[in-house]
Amino acid sequence: MTRSSTIATELHPSPVEAERRTEILADPGFGRHFSDHMFVSEWTPDQGWHGHSVKPYGPFSVDPATAVLHYAQEIFEGMKAYRHSDGSIWTFRPEVNAARFQRSAERLALPELPVDDFLAAIQALVEVDKEWVPSGAEQSLYIRPFMFASEVFLGVRPAKHVTFAVIMSPAGPYFSSGVKPVSIWLSEHYDRAAPGGTGAVKCGGNYAASLLPQQEAAANGCDQVVFLDPAEHLSLDELGGMNVFLVYGDGTLVTPELNGSILAGVTRASILELADELGHKVDERKVGIDEWRTGVAATEIVEVFACGTAAVVTPISTLKWRGGEVSSGADAGPVTLKIRQRLLDIQYGRVADEHGWMHRLV
Ligand SMILES: *Cc1c(COP(=O)(O)O)cnc(C)c1O
Repeated sequence: MTRSSTIATELHPSPVEAERRTEILADPGFGRHFSDHMFVSEWTPDQGWHGHSVKPYGPFSVDPATAVLHYAQEIFEGMKAYRHSDGSIWTFRPEVNAARFQRSAERLALPELPVDDFLAAIQALVEVDKEWVPSGAEQSLYIRPFMFASEVFLGVRPAKHVTFAVIMSPAGPYFSSGVKPVSIWLSEHYDRAAPGGTGAVKCGGNYAASLLPQQEAAANGCDQVVFLDPAEHLSLDELGGMNVFLVYGDGTLVTPELNGSILAGVTRASILELADELGHKVDERKVGIDEWRTGVAATEIVEVFACGTAAVVTPISTLKWRGGEVSSGADAGPVTLKIRQRLLDIQYGRVADEHGWMHRLV
């Protein structure tokens, strides 16, 4: 697909001073600081996508009747820009995010953004704000493309004015504890998505539905929540924002198959390929929640981990539910660490990119 138009650039009149930026990049946290610029584009039925521009980061002016505030017609993506040791800047499989963004748009009755426009937006924004890509270990510039119903109208129908934007936020490790394993609460009453619903696409509404169960997890002393399949509550789906893998004693990696309510993670897909290349058997299938419970108790399942762009690969130590818990070890297991390392080595350019996954930005 071709780009629908060129990008206008308006530079920030007073960007963050270099000294302050260095201070921020030394300890960015996650999602707290934002780069100097943002990308914005608008869509209407008559004009299609138009007005692509890089402009100073700043607030939108939002009318109280803006449709997204009422009916949540919104989608997003999550990617990262990585600085390699030679100073070049790269991103990971952006065309997969662009394609997923199109699937999300279709499900939410939003207009599709051409893949080339998606890639050009990220390219233009990272070029302008390249100084915001940190160079510390496991640091990155988190990229957040999103699209929302910006029409001022309270009727229930797909919006006729839509805004696409990209913002960027320097990021350190997602969990401040690093690769320390997390504990997971099994949500037995709440679902994040339903069959035929929006679970398989990346929309804000899915996250809204996961916040109360996440609170329940915290109240039970857990870091994260895991959801069951919404139809039967018998098999494993995923975490609120990460996919999940079980590692068997013989080295086999098992992850729930994409069933319509699980989000098809780029990290998940990449790990399936990497694990296979590293000599592991990989299996995508329905995974009963009892398989996790009894498998860990019988030490047939030796490691469990979650994965996603933000947190990369995060070991899971304990699964807890009302009335019980099982634990697969207090430390990150060797397979989890090996796969995590392999993925990071590719993303940070420390090993050859044999898959053509890396896309140079600067
Ligand atoms: C984004 C997301 C993931 C992880 O996807 P990646 O492409 O690997 O970042 C997993 N589950 C949900 C619900 C998500 O929104």
